[in-house]
Amino acid sequence: MKELVLEADLHVHTVASGHAFSTIAEIAAESARKGLKAFAVTDHGPAMPGGPHRYHFGNLRILPRTIGEVEIIRGVELNITNEDGDVDLPPEYLSLLDLAWAGLHALCFDGSGTESYTRAVLNALENPYIDGIVHPGNPDYPLDTEAVVRQAKKFNKLLEINNSSFHVRLGSLEPCRRFAALAAKHGVMVAVNSDSHYAAEVGRCEKAAEVLADAGIATEMVVNSSMDKVRQLLARRRERLSNL
Ligand SMILES: [Zn+2]
Ligand SMILES: [Zn+2]
Repeated sequence: MKELVLEADLHVHTVASGHAFSTIAEIAAESARKGLKAFAVTDHGPAMPGGPHRYHFGNLRILPRTIGEVEIIRGVELNITNEDGDVDLPPEYLSLLDLAWAGLHALCFDGSGTESYTRAVLNALENPYIDGIVHPGNPDYPLDTEAVVRQAKKFNKLLEINNSSFHVRLGSLEPCRRFAALAAKHGVMVAVNSDSHYAAEVGRCEKAAEVLADAGIATEMVVNSSMDKVRQLLARRRERLSNL
């Protein structure tokens, strides 16, 4: 893979998450400085301690579609709350959003063990409101990698290689390598995101890019390496939801 350049960062937190430290305006300015064409505002769902009320997500519609030259994608990082794959926003809110990630987070999920975590993620991947799974390589929530990658393929969903994992979720490297290798094998699209909690982090992808290169994942398989692919992703969501 040639050097990975992101055109969009699809997983970014603002002060609304309760434990992140930048505003949308600050992130937009940093994105412009770095040459990003878009970023997704994906604050944590309401089950996260300190996270925003569901009204936050209902009110994302008041944001401008662009700040300067940078497009703003309205999203969420949902918490998967149980093995059924339930998440912490109802469909009437999820239908308002451009993009919805889901993931397993401490204090938000009531199961335990690989079988439980895997069942939760497989069920979440079936949910038409969910576009993909964030940080599936988190070693705190070990998953059946093969089963998750096959399910992502079946439902045409994304798996994320999260650049922050390598310094905030220690032990992520090996599980992320396994996900990347199987994503390459099965032809599953990935997203490479910063999971920025402070504006300076937005767009960062160096370590994740190394993991992808080692796994032999082509740039074309990274959804946010081009705005064309990002637009296809958003259109695919709209189409799925229009069929419900
Ligand atoms: Zn997360
Ligand atoms: Zn996050």
